[in-house]
Amino acid sequence: MTWRPLANLLLSSLFEPPCAACAQILRHPLDGAVCDRCWASLRRGPSLNEQLHGDHAVDWIGAVDLYEGRLRDIIHALKYERRRSIARPLGALMRSSGALLLDGADVAVPVPLHPRREHERGFNQADELAQQLGLPVAPLLRRVRDTTSQVELPADARHQNVRDAFRLRQGYGGPAVGQVAQPLPSVVVLVDDVSTTGATLEACARVLKAGGVKEVRALTAARVVTGRR
Ligand SMILES: [Zn+2]
Repeated sequence: MTWRPLANLLLSSLFEPPCAACAQILRHPLDGAVCDRCWASLRRGPSLNEQLHGDHAVDWIGAVDLYEGRLRDIIHALKYERRRSIARPLGALMRSSGALLLDGADVAVPVPLHPRREHERGFNQADELAQQLGLPVAPLLRRVRDTTSQVELPADARHQNVRDAFRLRQGYGGPAVGQVAQPLPSVVVLVDDVSTTGATLEACARVLKAGGVKEVRALTAARVVTGRR
């Protein structure tokens, strides 16, 4: 549209809105909260896809890149500054770099927030990202314990903390009161913004598999590398 360059110029020069990641003034503020240079600095192409072996309920993990630098700034802006518009381009990156994990999957399942936390933030970033992956989004899980203070906990305490934090949503997988339970899909892509120790993804995957899911692949925007999982 012809008014767009002019509107961008006016907004940029009048209000000097900063990029949510690098804080440089946005030249095209109408195009989103993060500048072109920051998006261009992120990894393109095949992501950190890895098949897990051994005692894991998660069969595959994938992420666009490590949780550092610009990618961390962008995710931080999405979650803590509530820049919801970031989910679309970030989800598109997950879709292209996680293509291997998405191929042949039945549904995307966002890692749920505790309802209280989602109410505070106004949205669930995992759900926003899941919407961008080209799969039907199925909210199969609910969070029954608020465990989001994970950041301060050491790795082994995180696993303890999220154990029993998730349940299948009523009506899926098992017998539900007053209704026929729907069978779960067989291949599921779990979606979250960041995987730190993998404890949350693992806890979700265990619940899904107990309900009859055959394969769980976990796709996140970023991953913290904490040594071997
Ligand atoms: Zn920037």
